[in-house]
Amino acid sequence: ALTEKLTRLVKEMRGQARITEANVQDMLREVRMALLEADVALPVVRDFVARVKDKALGQEVMGSLKPGQTLVGIVNKELAATMGEGVADINLAAQPPAVILMAGLQGAGKTTTTAKLAKHLIEKRKKKVLTVSGDVYRPAAIEQLKTVTKQAGAEWFPSTPDQKPRDIALAALDHARRHYFDVLLVDTAGRLAVDEVLMQEIRDLHAAIKPVETLFVVDAMQGQDAVNTARAFKEALPLTGIVLTKLDGDSRGGAALSVRQITGAPIKFAGVSEKIDGLEVFDAERHAGRILGMGDIVALVEQVSAGVDMEAAQKLAAKVKSGDGFDLNDFLGQLQQMKQMGGLSSFMDKLPSELSAKAGQVDLDRAERDVRRKEGIICSMTALERRKPELIKATRKKRIAAGAGVQVQEVNRLLKEFEQMQEMMKKMKGGGLMKMMKKMGG
Ligand code: GDP
Ligand code: MG
Repeated sequence: ALTEKLTRLVKEMRGQARITEANVQDMLREVRMALLEADVALPVVRDFVARVKDKALGQEVMGSLKPGQTLVGIVNKELAATMGEGVADINLAAQPPAVILMAGLQGAGKTTTTAKLAKHLIEKRKKKVLTVSGDVYRPAAIEQLKTVTKQAGAEWFPSTPDQKPRDIALAALDHARRHYFDVLLVDTAGRLAVDEVLMQEIRDLHAAIKPVETLFVVDAMQGQDAVNTARAFKEALPLTGIVLTKLDGDSRGGAALSVRQITGAPIKFAGVSEKIDGLEVFDAERHAGRILGMGDIVALVEQVSAGVDMEAAQKLAAKVKSGDGFDLNDFLGQLQQMKQMGGLSSFMDKLPSELSAKAGQVDLDRAERDVRRKEGIICSMTALERRKPELIKATRKKRIAAGAGVQVQEVNRLLKEFEQMQEMMKKMKGGGLMKMMKKMGG
């Protein structure tokens, strides 16, 4: 719904040459709503919107861009910049073993992430990795780390609940040194909420092992609460990075913005499944799109307005709204517009990830060839046939097939597909060009 609103606003701002107080208000309100809906903390939202406004006001609108597009561009860039630019991998620049300390609330995903990181460091950086658990409050936690460490193909250093976390970590460090490990990952006890005793404990642990990385692990589903947690951990520890977990959930991931803003530490990784390989290097730009709830719609908007005849698209939308007369000419128009936008594959790349994941199962080369053949078939029809496909009888189908150099079955298939599309259009009644194209792609 948000995307539609934004798209509408982008259109409304067409034809205005610069961004002004007046034309930017509605857009900023939508952006604010989008951020709040994504669970970005209120003070962070306020700050952010003010920054965007500052940057946007008075800005000349470049070339063929419209103020709305320019603003969406500014918002997206600022979001991505706030969450960090470029890729921030794990820093291992230390006398080996490089020690990595995991911090965060209970259930945030520290233990899981420890194993995921171990696997990442083994596979991508060819490191010899040791893990150890300082979670002495729950015996099961130590076992859990042992299990997932095995899955990761790393080695695990034993600990027991009667030991002090600091002693455990120092023993592991000694072992790692003597056995030439490159990295020691130190998992820590969970905190259900910010707890002074436990905070002091992890501070002592930090002072003893002097980690090169102190990673704050935070659950993306935590939303607004992430701010308080982040603040407490930042005050207790010199955080060097953030891991945002459970991004495979349906949260829009606004916590990323809040946590980054509060801690100032770069978001290095994203957890995207419970499984051991469910860790991705954090991509700020992609995440900006997710927060705004519009995939890479920014790029799409630009491509659409560059490649698509807006008037034709609007005429089409009007037709659909009136519920009648979606004919093969319109169908052809859609096919051609898709081509103008750089073909199916580039189009798919720009869709929100849920959709492009589905699209990933489609053979794109084949789909593109398919589009060309369909065009050929429609072009072999007369104007009347395109308007009234129901008139096309068997003999004409043969003619059309011959004209397009395809089999009659293919003509039948196209007509069938067209009928389905027409049916869908009636149901949708003006859901917009975007929607139609997504349906066509998927
Ligand atoms: P800890 O208390 O901080 O050590 O958290 P755990 O590593 O034990 O994880 C808590 C729960 O979250 C477990 O059920 C994990 O499987 C799950 N979990 C951790 N990371 C992710 C993730 O990226 N995605 C999903 N879906 N679940 C995760
Ligand atoms: Mg744990």
